[in-house]
Amino acid sequence: MATARLPDLNFEAMSAEEVLRWAAEEFGDGLCLTCSWQRQSSVLIHMLSELELDVDIVELDTMVLFPETYETRDRLVERYGLELTSFRPIDPPDRLWETKPDECCHIRKVEPLERALAGYDAWITGIRREQSPSRSGARRVEWSERYGVWKIQPLVDWNAKRVEAYVHVNEIPYNPLHDVGYPSIGCIPCTRPVKAGEGERAGRWAGSEKLECGIHINAPLIKESDD
Ligand code: SF4
Repeated sequence: MATARLPDLNFEAMSAEEVLRWAAEEFGDGLCLTCSWQRQSSVLIHMLSELELDVDIVELDTMVLFPETYETRDRLVERYGLELTSFRPIDPPDRLWETKPDECCHIRKVEPLERALAGYDAWITGIRREQSPSRSGARRVEWSERYGVWKIQPLVDWNAKRVEAYVHVNEIPYNPLHDVGYPSIGCIPCTRPVKAGEGERAGRWAGSEKLECGIHINAPLIKESDD
C-alpha cells in the first residue's frame, strides 16, 4: 500500500506500542524494522515480541561494525528467535571513510537500505528527536518521498534515559558499548566515545561537519555521478 495518504489519526498522541500495533495492521507484510543494534533496536524488538507482532527484521551490516555490535545482534536473535534478513554493501572500497565519508556511507548504508526497502511499504526506525538537530523535526509517522515508504518512528519522543530504563527494567540484551562512553554506535572508523557534556552523537564523525550517514535525511548526501 505505497501511498502518501493515511487515516486522519493523531499519531503524535499514540504510545510506541499503539503505533506499532496500528502499523502492523495497516501494512501487514509490507512492514519491516531495520536494526543497527543500538539500544533502540533492543527496545523495538522487545516491543514487537511482547505485542506478538510478526514484523520482518532487516539488518544493515556495513561490515565495519564493532565486535560488540555483532555480539549484541546474536544475543537478540537467540533471545527472541529472530529470523534476520541482512543487507550488505557491494564491493565497498577499503578506507573510503578517510577521504569520502559521504560516498562511503552511500555504498555501505544508503544503497543497501534502498535494496532492503524495495519490497516494503513502511519502515520502522528507532530514531529520536533529541539525538541531533538534524532529527529534531522527525514525526512519529511520516512519508519518505525519497524511499517511497512510510517511516514509523515509535520512539521519536523518547529521551535517552527512558530508552535506558526500558532496556534495564525489561532485562533486554543491549550493546555493551553504551556503558563505556558510546551513547551512539556506528561503524568502527567513524565512532569514538563521547566526553562528559558532549552531545549524544558527538562521537559520530567527530572532528568533521558530518552529522548523518544519509539514510534519515530527505536529500541524498551525494549524487550518483559524484566522483
Ligand atoms: S559511518 Fe564511516 S565507515 Fe560507516 S559507512 Fe559511513 S563513512 Fe563508511
